[in-house]
Amino acid sequence: MLDTTPRSCPCCDAVETTPWTQYSPDNWHIVRCAQCDMTYLSNPVTYEALEEDFAWEKTYEVKKETSKGSTGLSPGIRSLRQKLGLTHRNKHDKYRLWFQDGHVLDVGCGNGTRIAPPMTPYGIELSKKLHSRADRYMRKQGGYCAHGAGAQAIWTFDAGQFDGIVMHSYLEHETDVMQVLEGAHRALKDNGAIYVRVPNFGSINRRVVGAKWCGFRYPDHVNYYTLATLTDTCRRAGFTTELVNKIALPFDDNITVLLRKESGA
Ligand SMILES: [Zn+2]
Repeated sequence: MLDTTPRSCPCCDAVETTPWTQYSPDNWHIVRCAQCDMTYLSNPVTYEALEEDFAWEKTYEVKKETSKGSTGLSPGIRSLRQKLGLTHRNKHDKYRLWFQDGHVLDVGCGNGTRIAPPMTPYGIELSKKLHSRADRYMRKQGGYCAHGAGAQAIWTFDAGQFDGIVMHSYLEHETDVMQVLEGAHRALKDNGAIYVRVPNFGSINRRVVGAKWCGFRYPDHVNYYTLATLTDTCRRAGFTTELVNKIALPFDDNITVLLRKESGA
């Protein structure tokens, strides 16, 4: 029996919802908040279960297996995305563009190699196996990796310690969104920025392919953002949101934004 905890809306904390039954397989309940429109998993598994039984590297393998023969992308959208040039740019160059040679915290850092010199890498990772790999690598570069859940571990760093924070494919996994965003607000320098990339629940592709959309992953994706609900969530934590993938957004399975501290926040 899985250890799950019911929760209120991760954006506005309301409890009234309507179910998305077509996106709720097995015993997982995907719902939409009646107050703010946020879509989320209302019965996520506990951190303890996530750490061992649903560690990212394991559920990723399962997803690859069950999606065999399908990329979760309609052929029309695949060709349109090729025309729009939605190809992957070198990740290190991308982060350096914003964070230069600063101290950068990667929340949910996996094996820890996203942040490379001249940036100094710090990380947080819940999976024991990935954490030890990341910590070894980061210590060689002058930083380190904290072991634990993002919402707790982010408070162990100093206030104003980071020039940049990276949340790449992380926020969709986090049950305590406000706690991690408020912790990030504290740990970030006033002129720093946070890079956030999450699956785009508002994408045309999700509407076209429905339940087979690549953004659904049960039970480890617990938040399903549109640009509107992501912006609303971040505003409540004291951030302004700048959309990075402006033109391509409707055709992109991900939303990429930069968060900055609201002045006076
Ligand atoms: Zn809500």
